[in-house]
Amino acid sequence: MFINSLLSRALLIRQPFHSGVRMSSQGYAAVTPSIIEALIRICGREHVTADDAGTLRKYGHDQVPGDKYAHLPEVVVKPQTAQEVAAIVQLANRALIPVTPRAAGSGLSGGAVPIYGGILLSVERMDRILDIDVANLMVVVEPGVITNQLDNALRPHGLFFAGYPMSDEFCFIGGNVAENAGGGRAIKYGVTGRYIHGLEMVTPTGDIVQLGGKRVKDVTGYDLVHLMVGSEGTLGIFTKIFVRLLPRPTARVAILALFAQVADAIAVVPRVVTAGRLVPTAVEFMDRFCYGRTVESLKESFPTQDIGAALLLEVDGNRPDVVAAEAEMIEAICCELGARATFVARDEPGIERFWKIRKQIPWVLKRTSPVHSIEDIVVPIAAIPPLVAALDRIGQAYDTRIPVFGHAGDGNLHATPMKDPALSDLRWEEKLHDLLKEIYAVTAQLGGTISGEHGIGHKRRDYMHLVMEPAQIDMMRRIKQALDPRNILNPGKIFALNEKA
Ligand SMILES: Cc1cc2nc3c(=O)[nH]c(=O)nc-3n(C[C@H](O)[C@H](O)[C@H](O)COP(=O)(O)OP(=O)(O)OC[C@H]3O[C@@H](n4cnc5c(N)ncnc54)[C@H](O)[C@@H]3O)c2cc1C
Repeated sequence: MFINSLLSRALLIRQPFHSGVRMSSQGYAAVTPSIIEALIRICGREHVTADDAGTLRKYGHDQVPGDKYAHLPEVVVKPQTAQEVAAIVQLANRALIPVTPRAAGSGLSGGAVPIYGGILLSVERMDRILDIDVANLMVVVEPGVITNQLDNALRPHGLFFAGYPMSDEFCFIGGNVAENAGGGRAIKYGVTGRYIHGLEMVTPTGDIVQLGGKRVKDVTGYDLVHLMVGSEGTLGIFTKIFVRLLPRPTARVAILALFAQVADAIAVVPRVVTAGRLVPTAVEFMDRFCYGRTVESLKESFPTQDIGAALLLEVDGNRPDVVAAEAEMIEAICCELGARATFVARDEPGIERFWKIRKQIPWVLKRTSPVHSIEDIVVPIAAIPPLVAALDRIGQAYDTRIPVFGHAGDGNLHATPMKDPALSDLRWEEKLHDLLKEIYAVTAQLGGTISGEHGIGHKRRDYMHLVMEPAQIDMMRRIKQALDPRNILNPGKIFALNEKA
């Protein structure tokens, strides 16, 4: 068993960018010239690509580092309407070809990777903001709208979309809904799903349905909208999204607090909520390595000497005096708990300067060690201190650097084990596997789970059993089987293909 798993890992490493050939062994049909002709009839010749290696390669991976989780599609199609999406899915059902929906490809779990080849369906041409409905505080958008562009379009109306993934400058709202993305403001505003009130989508068998709509309340039957939110492209392809909006806060203040000790920084979170009696908009944690390297790489002037951890906190609201007083209270708590230095930003450029440090961390880690694993563990917020201590212990036990950053305010940390360049790929894979099992076990013991916002995809699929009862996983498989009887839509994600309900 152990030898088999070593062999299969060795094969995976030696076969970067698997071609579509393995796919037929999974019982799917190959994409033939007549299928390509049919796709061209649906979408137009310029929106179907099967013979350009560069394009296939571009759509064969997301932002999970390395080739292990990459796989080439056989054809890339870019439909523009729900009808075109439905026709593609119907064709795929008839021919038994897998279809993988893709938004911006910024995912960190391999969700948009077509692991059995087949059709890669990109929603990038479905990029219109259809209806900014101020009276109903709703916006209706197509899935290919960039998250940040949506928020910018709402600005002149005094409205905002509370979702704020750190990838907002390039990810799409469709990908956010499919992953139920979290981000920097979740402690106060919650995650994407809280704002999704309706979806037009193509079912795995090719029907177009609308679930929910602009209604704020709706208990008419099962909550199918929120079954679809976070379904990672396995239960339907969204073609229209109804998003609830909030009045845009007019006042914001951000605080960057630098600590010598990690434990002091972490202690700030519960103290702000209990002693300060306020819910900040954001509490982002950066350990010594993440903060120091990023400040250096940005050539920023903030101190790094003897800094063990940094917090980025933000408060917002509509009364500048109240927001200023809350910020002062947070700053005072940070100082009381041992902050070496605090910096306060009261205007947009200053606030963005702080956020830039936080947003750059994944790229700096990638440059430091191209082979690494951005994890996404989440625990109840009070369990953050023991989790950080356990990560430190595990890093030492495995002699592996594990930088930690993330959304400490909502219990979601991105521990990122990094490969020592001296290790072979095979040895690293073995070590990472064992190390992740330990990280996940500690997380589970603390009441947490393996993904707070990045999803399962196929990166974390084989670890689901560590945090979920078999009965729970079985319920999910049965839902998948009921809605997608031919297992056409994004197969092999969340569950392995050969597992039966
Ligand atoms: C630097 C960086 C920072 C990040 N920060 C955050 C963060 O703060 N919070 C966070 O939650 N994530 C974060 N992420 C991860 C990623 O950006 C999010 O998961 C994002 O929501 C993915 O959006 P996407 O448009 O790139 O989707 P993709 O990666 O293209 O797809 C993601 C999933 O959605 C499915 N999908 C795509 N379109 C549709 C559709 N129309 N219908 C149905 N399913 C569909 C795909 O099949 C796939 O399973 C970060 C990533 C990077 C690289």
